[in-house]
Amino acid sequence: MEDFDRNDRLVSPEVNRGESEELNLRPRTLEEYVGQEKVKENLRVYLEAAKRRGEPMDHILLYGPPGLGKTTLAGIVAQEMGVQIRITSGPAIEKPGDLAALLTNLQEGDVLFIDEIHRLSRQVEEVLYPALEDYALDIMIGKGPSAQSIRINLPRFTLIGATTRAGQLTGPLRDRFGVLLKLELYSPDELARIIRRSAGILGQPCTEEGALELAKCSRGTPRVANRLLKRVRDFAVVLGDGTVDGDAARLALKRMDIDALGLDELDRSLLRAIIELYGGGPVGLDTLAAALGEEAVTLEDVCEPYLMQMGFLTRTPRGRCVTRLAYEHLGLRAPAFAEDSGQQSMF
Ligand code: ADP
Repeated sequence: MEDFDRNDRLVSPEVNRGESEELNLRPRTLEEYVGQEKVKENLRVYLEAAKRRGEPMDHILLYGPPGLGKTTLAGIVAQEMGVQIRITSGPAIEKPGDLAALLTNLQEGDVLFIDEIHRLSRQVEEVLYPALEDYALDIMIGKGPSAQSIRINLPRFTLIGATTRAGQLTGPLRDRFGVLLKLELYSPDELARIIRRSAGILGQPCTEEGALELAKCSRGTPRVANRLLKRVRDFAVVLGDGTVDGDAARLALKRMDIDALGLDELDRSLLRAIIELYGGGPVGLDTLAAALGEEAVTLEDVCEPYLMQMGFLTRTPRGRCVTRLAYEHLGLRAPAFAEDSGQQSMF
């Protein structure tokens, strides 16, 4: 199998190496934030209630696959509440002291955004509990029998945690969030709106058809949509008349090896491996990852949500299975037992 680097994939929902996301593409208000209607509706109520009470927002847990707008939403909450936001991530907070430094530097009402919050270490998590519940830090000073615990009061703040799956969080941490919001993959129409909005900001002419072609290949993810728009711009300028229209979009996607449904070579290799090496499944995630020379977490977080959404893959207790649709998409003949659900018959 070929060697893929998840960071170099055009359709990766995560920020690529050396890629700087243009900050001005980020919506700053709930009105500008496209889609996620249910999340926005609830958030509006919570924000209004907190403002009326003159209190900081309750702690919020955002979960959903990467690139769906969790950081953006945290920024919007801060903006709506008229406070500052500090952005960090679970792996960046190595020691309890790192977290203490962050917390003591907050101003009253500020938002602390911790991306990948499921990756906080146990010790750091324990410092976080009293901070979330009582706005206080318990610090041990000294060692041995003379050790003492002192309590430092913190400004009232809002923690916004982001994670790809809420199930990865420890129970005690999850329980300390007052608001849980799940972000869903975006529909092609919503993504087309995001692409047209971004094209407007970038001063790039883009037709409705062009936007929709790109949207269909963006895996339900705004980050991918914006990235494809930027790449297609290059093709439109060099090979076309500078407009991102249907033809430019189709040509560019073909050149980038992205198929009509937004699958790239890694997705197709994953499906092909299940079909060719494991007879369509079921196969365990780790076995599959080893066969592809990929990390299991890459397949699980980056490829699978979209492949499942498209109905190409199912997760069963015994492992991953491909569906008849996957065979058809790859131009292969599905064996008789490959049902749409991907479950194999018992006989
Ligand atoms: P996450 O934190 O979930 O990985 P981000 O908040 O960094 O995702 O969003 C990725 C990019 O997608 C941002 O640069 C932003 O411009 C764009 N984006 C995300 N959600 C939306 C949305 N609802 N409307 C418009 N653009 C969005």
